Amino acid sequence: MSDADKVDYDVIVIGGGGAGMAAAIQAADAGARVALLEAANKLGGATALAGGLFYASGTAAQHELGILDTPEAMYQDILALNGDSVPHTLVRRFCDDAPNVMRWLMELGVEFPPERLSAPSARFVPRAHEPVGFGAKIAEQLDLAVSKRPIDVARMSRVDTLLTDAQGAIIGVRVGDDEIFARSVVLACGGFGASEEFVARLLPKARRVGDWVWNVGCSTNRGDGLRMAESVGAPLVGENSALLLQTPNFQRDLEVIGPDWALMVNSLGKRFVREDGAYYEISEGIEAQPDSKAFFIFDRPLFETAKPHPRVLEAVKLGIATVSWVTRVLQEQLEKGRVIESPTIAGLAQKIGVDVASLTATLARYNELAAIGVDADFEKSPASLKPVATPAFYAVEVRPAALIVTGSGMPIDVEARVLNASGAALPGLYAAGETVGNLYGRHYVSSGYAIASSITFGCIAGRSAAAYARAQAAA
Ligand SMILES: Cc1cc2nc3c(=O)[nH]c(=O)nc-3n(C[C@H](O)[C@H](O)[C@H](O)COP(=O)(O)OP(=O)(O)OC[C@H]3O[C@@H](n4cnc5c(N)ncnc54)[C@H](O)[C@@H]3O)c2cc1C
Repeated sequence: MSDADKVDYDVIVIGGGGAGMAAAIQAADAGARVALLEAANKLGGATALAGGLFYASGTAAQHELGILDTPEAMYQDILALNGDSVPHTLVRRFCDDAPNVMRWLMELGVEFPPERLSAPSARFVPRAHEPVGFGAKIAEQLDLAVSKRPIDVARMSRVDTLLTDAQGAIIGVRVGDDEIFARSVVLACGGFGASEEFVARLLPKARRVGDWVWNVGCSTNRGDGLRMAESVGAPLVGENSALLLQTPNFQRDLEVIGPDWALMVNSLGKRFVREDGAYYEISEGIEAQPDSKAFFIFDRPLFETAKPHPRVLEAVKLGIATVSWVTRVLQEQLEKGRVIESPTIAGLAQKIGVDVASLTATLARYNELAAIGVDADFEKSPASLKPVATPAFYAVEVRPAALIVTGSGMPIDVEARVLNASGAALPGLYAAGETVGNLYGRHYVSSGYAIASSITFGCIAGRSAAAYARAQAAA
């Protein structure tokens, strides 16, 4: 009997996070015999740790709120942001499928109430649908749906190798000493945040912040999908595609919405971004600075009234965020010398190594804008535009360092087939989620993009893998 004749399953899915569970369910619903192999002792992955925001347009929640939006408008917005850095066909497929996948999640028991729909700021159409119970609820309902189907689930099963036949087609996987054979395999092993080796290799921008970088995501996501895809001829694409969120110098902080009430400057003492912008815009703004660092600057009244954004408090309750920007923590860090204090702006500039004249001029301009309540320079909203004028003055260094999403990996096509270096599909191999490298593009699209694209392409991968297995069986 040749290897190709040994078939334990139609579809093996590697990784039981959002993408993998969606793939397994869809493949099983298409009639495939499915195994779902998960490295951890439970299903969920980073999906279960997430806020769970789901980016989609033309949804019932938008309709209820009278928001006129369509997949076409979302497609155009993504292309306007990312141009040719992401294949247009993939963007089109994502935009068209995402509202259906969100409806499917709702059928599985996830609620996306209209009142939780949001946009990172008023400049964007609200498309980030926050589920009741956050990402944990999405993971729980997917897990439940898996358990209701004849899917063989093996936890504590880290797949290390893809098996191929003499022609290079994928015919199964190896877990330690065990070989399991299947007609097709879906890679849904998440990103590589827990792999120092891949971070060093694929994220040169992370090197610029050195040992500040820390992995917020799932500790079992070590880039195995990337390694396995590469071993069978897939290139790794999307270098530097990752979300590194701003982190203060005093704690490993996941306060996605930072102190929008403060002023942010670079090492030259100049503003470069609206401080109440979307978290990923702020991170990208800091990354674009020559030394990849910035300072939040504020005065005594702002120090004394410092409090986190209400949405951060919700995340804190859930244990997925830490609070840094509150008076109590700032006072503690002042005593430890991490919050820098000076009675004058000139003194503060000297202490943080910023040009005195430049910081003084920036402060003067900012206070002028605050006085009229209009940020003509960066369009910060009037509510967050507070004067920084009453001594003492404070500075906190921040860097883009909290690694929350990685988006470098193997390329896929619209059917979630993994492509080789010539752009041809590798027979029998599919992928979805953070393990994929051509979904994110130059800029992170918006809150909710990671979960929505992971689960949407997870569904596509499951159906495609099942169809391929069916065709193979019939051949
Ligand atoms: C704190 C936090 C908040 C976030 N909030 C949001 C949000 O609100 N909205 C949003 O869009 N995105 C958010 N994200 C990102 C989003 O959660 C992920 O991009 C998405 O869930 C990835 O799904 P996935 O299925 O690709 O990976 P995961 O859900 O991480 O699943 C991968 C699974 O593969 C398993 N695995 C890894 N290697 C192997 C192997 N060799 N063999 C077997 N199993 C393996 C892992 O154990 C894991 O269970 C957040 C991320 C974090 C960490």
